[in-house]
Amino acid sequence: MPFYKDMPLVCRSCGETFIFTAGEQEFYADKGFLNEPTRCPKCRVRRDSSGGRGRREDRKENRS
Ligand SMILES: [Zn+2]
Repeated sequence: MPFYKDMPLVCRSCGETFIFTAGEQEFYADKGFLNEPTRCPKCRVRRDSSGGRGRREDRKENRS
């Protein structure tokens, strides 16, 4: 049995430090996810609730 412990990670989206908790690590492992999350829970929720609209906001000035 692997032993999990809380791990601080830096969000790639907003740069904030968030905790990847032992419980989440277990959940990830259970789902077969091999990679650590790269975004904090807040940014993950934002992304999930965006519904695929405006996911490339940094290109908004590039519209024809
Ligand atoms: Zn974030």
